[in-house]
Amino acid sequence: MSTKLSDTAREKGIKYFLISYADLFGVQRAKLVPAAAIDGMAKNGAGFAGFATWLDMTPADPDLFAVPDPDTLIQLPWRREVGWLAADPWMNGKPVAHAPRNVLKRKIAEAAGAGLTMKTGVECEFFLLTEDGREVCDTADRQTKPCYDQQALMRRYDVISELCDAMLELGWQPYQNDHEDANGQFEMNWQFDEALVTADRHAFFKYMARSIAEKHGLRATFMPKPFISLTGSGCHVHVSLWKGERNLFEDEGGELGVSELGYHFLGGVINSADALAAILNPSVNSYKRINAPRTISGATWAPNSVTYTGNNRTHLIRIPEAGRFELRLADGAANPYLLQAAVLSAGLDGLSNKRDPGKRLDINMYTEGHTVTSAKRLPMNLLDALRALEHSSVLRDHLGEFVPAYLKLKHEEWNDYARHLTQWERDNTLDC
Ligand code: GLU
Ligand code: MG
Ligand code: MG
Repeated sequence: MSTKLSDTAREKGIKYFLISYADLFGVQRAKLVPAAAIDGMAKNGAGFAGFATWLDMTPADPDLFAVPDPDTLIQLPWRREVGWLAADPWMNGKPVAHAPRNVLKRKIAEAAGAGLTMKTGVECEFFLLTEDGREVCDTADRQTKPCYDQQALMRRYDVISELCDAMLELGWQPYQNDHEDANGQFEMNWQFDEALVTADRHAFFKYMARSIAEKHGLRATFMPKPFISLTGSGCHVHVSLWKGERNLFEDEGGELGVSELGYHFLGGVINSADALAAILNPSVNSYKRINAPRTISGATWAPNSVTYTGNNRTHLIRIPEAGRFELRLADGAANPYLLQAAVLSAGLDGLSNKRDPGKRLDINMYTEGHTVTSAKRLPMNLLDALRALEHSSVLRDHLGEFVPAYLKLKHEEWNDYARHLTQWERDNTLDC
């Protein structure tokens, strides 16, 4: 973009810019910069104390500079005087190799070198809670089968329509919104696009949903399993791989309309599934969603084993129609950039090693899954997943220095969690 951001600011009435990057946990950190200072920041980046960036730095590290990508500019639809910019972290004059957006850009460039473009769509599920985050905000939303509940959806019309109007204005082509399978849970869908575009939109959507919910006195959460008896919040990813205008996953003659190359990509994802969980299911709480017993509505809709199928939502991977597959592993806590980078890495490995995904299973995994003894299970907790990532030569080779940096911070998180005494332990072991 050749126009200076200060000119754009004048034209659009932007007074402040939010220069934002995602840390290794997916948390967005930012500096709010007045338009008068934006051109210098656009060139050199906004400065952050390295250690406080949650990008695996030490207190002795120098400043980190978040260099905004002008193509990502979004004028906040709910506060027009502010412009949001996704930024790339730099230190010592070069991009921080393990910073999430940089990791994704590197993988995308690698794929582009082979003429390949991954396109994805993400399905963001979230809960709308009371302001203090303790319970579902709608006391009338108590049905045991709340999926697609029209009445409960329309009671939240003000929030959902404001979010959808914003996406329409931004040109994301949103096409549907619904009440999901848990009380207080919603999903909003917009059009799929190239992986980096989807990742930036995904990051912005989370910020926007939280902000607009707050404006309405509510709290939006993407926590994977905020209530143990209710369905959790997933973040399914629909994947296809393109060469120019051609979807390489599409093949009329292939099984379910998917090409051999598509099955190799899928085979790569199946092969790395347990290690992928460390990135796609990044929190302690994530493991309360996958592998979960059925909820009061009769299904969790989350996977428990490493299997794939046709149009059947009880598996890790679903092929809903020709030319794409839906990976149902990721949850609301997934870092938008790492999610895409990890899936692309596993898929590219599948292509270069012609990974065979095995036979598809056309059964209900929730009721008949126990009969498939050959199917690998997903990790039972974050520690198992981190260990799988540690042992995954595929993801280590593809993601480079990101993996040790990530493992270090996530192991610290696990150890912190493991030091906590839970009520369950007191209830069950006080008298042993
Ligand atoms: N909420 C479910 C999950 O945790 C998904 C429901 C659906 O299929 O949309 O993955
Ligand atoms: Mg859903
Ligand atoms: Mg889905």
